[in-house]
Amino acid sequence: MNVPPDTGRSWWLHDALADPSLDGEPAPALSTDTQADVVILGGGYTGMWTALHLKERDPGLDIVILEQDICGGGPSGRNGGFVNSWWSGLHHICEDFGDEATLRMCRMGEDSVHAIGAFCAANDIDAWFAADGDLGFATSTAQIGEWAHLVETAKRLGISDQFAVLTPEGSRQVVDSPVFHGGVKTTHGATVQPARLARGMRRVLQSKGVRIYEGSPVTRFGAGDPAIAETPGGSVRAGHAVIALNAWAAHWKRFRRAITVRGSYIVLTEPAPEKLKTIGWTDGSGLWDYRAALHYVRTTPDGRIAFGVGGMQPNLARHIGPRFAWDEPAVRTAIHDLHRMFPTFADVPLAAAWGGPIDVAGSHLPFFGTMGAASNVHYGLGYTGNGVGPAHLGGRILAARILGAADEALDLPIVDLDPMKFPPEPIKSPGAFVANAAIRRKDEFEDRGEEANPLVDFMARLPRRLGYNLGP
Ligand SMILES: Cc1cc2nc3c(=O)[nH]c(=O)nc-3n(C[C@H](O)[C@H](O)[C@H](O)COP(=O)(O)OP(=O)(O)OC[C@H]3O[C@@H](n4cnc5c(N)ncnc54)[C@H](O)[C@@H]3O)c2cc1C
Repeated sequence: MNVPPDTGRSWWLHDALADPSLDGEPAPALSTDTQADVVILGGGYTGMWTALHLKERDPGLDIVILEQDICGGGPSGRNGGFVNSWWSGLHHICEDFGDEATLRMCRMGEDSVHAIGAFCAANDIDAWFAADGDLGFATSTAQIGEWAHLVETAKRLGISDQFAVLTPEGSRQVVDSPVFHGGVKTTHGATVQPARLARGMRRVLQSKGVRIYEGSPVTRFGAGDPAIAETPGGSVRAGHAVIALNAWAAHWKRFRRAITVRGSYIVLTEPAPEKLKTIGWTDGSGLWDYRAALHYVRTTPDGRIAFGVGGMQPNLARHIGPRFAWDEPAVRTAIHDLHRMFPTFADVPLAAAWGGPIDVAGSHLPFFGTMGAASNVHYGLGYTGNGVGPAHLGGRILAARILGAADEALDLPIVDLDPMKFPPEPIKSPGAFVANAAIRRKDEFEDRGEEANPLVDFMARLPRRLGYNLGP
């Protein structure tokens, strides 16, 4: 396998760290006991957008961010860079929340996509933000028509014009791949260089006086007034705390049954702009397929393909270990699938590969709230691999909650939502592992034009039969 192993950072993050325009101040580890108005656990998008929204509304607030690694060292600097709202999952959300709330949620999510672009422009963050829309393709004959429910729902809601159905020939005219069998094109969605966004946010936060401590894992947390976050070098006492820990929150008793952890992995090619031109893919549109364990694929301005595979699980995922950052079987799968989708890239060298953990929620939707009615501890997680856009809205929700401010975002059904529970251990981890493996196997059968055997099919469909919005 000819791809350099990940050394703990994504290619995106190496690229962002090499750009002096994204540099902020050094952020050494916390080495004393201190106090703040708000302490935020986790320096990813959720934590950083919360701090930015707070500063926008109340510039005088004293905010501390505690990050175990560096800001953007986690999934916020490792992801595929698809900046989406929830439009492509419209039909599922309508089933849960009804039409009116779903439309509000999708529209507010879309506002966040535009707001992220505007934020980058206003702050001179060169994050390659490209609002060129989204393409969802069937990459096996079994996936043909998987968009029917979405298209019907859009028609019922009078928004059909937002989704253009592509025939097999039409899809190959947009981007030429031998495995494209039609799909849906939308104008929603953007792509971004995720780590450039994360590091740019960090720079802006520091310029607004937010105190960031990197290399500062929270090893103990006490909810109370004040909330106390302890790190090896010191502690923070604060009036409010925000848990913005993504998949790591699965280690907390409170969230153990609210999320399950999966992995997602990306391989990145060296630049081959002439090959992209040949297949007609010359803009910044993001592309994904209708597999249950989806592929998400985008390009870079210098002509690379970043090819992502979702729904991977290197182990029982009871702890987020190094295999979430680099897993050889997962990377092999990604390379195989990249070459299946784009055979002309088979001779293009690979520049890098990496992965990260995903906080899978049973409903496939994030949830935001406060621990107990009168508490000062707030949380936001469960993005299920779709947090780049939604974390902006999540930060807005959390900031409004902390400030007790009026905000229509607080009326969204993902606020104070009681998330669907996964079974307790020891059933949850092995159960999720087996179901996940079956989902992947079913996709692989279908990629080969075969039907999954009945046992694999049964196991792959089990999560959905049990009421989760997961799997086929
Ligand atoms: C490979 C991959 C591809 C993805 N692709 C996409 C995509 O294209 N589009 C999309 O919308 N979403 C995508 N996602 C998901 C997206 O990255 C996340 O939903 C989003 O980054 C969530 O942001 P966050 O701030 O909540 O979490 P994170 O970015 O994970 O931030 C949480 C932070 O908490 C820190 N932390 C953990 N424990 C502690 C502790 N004890 N003390 C202090 N800090 C701690 C972590 O180091 C981490 O930096 C992808 C994810 C992965 C892994």
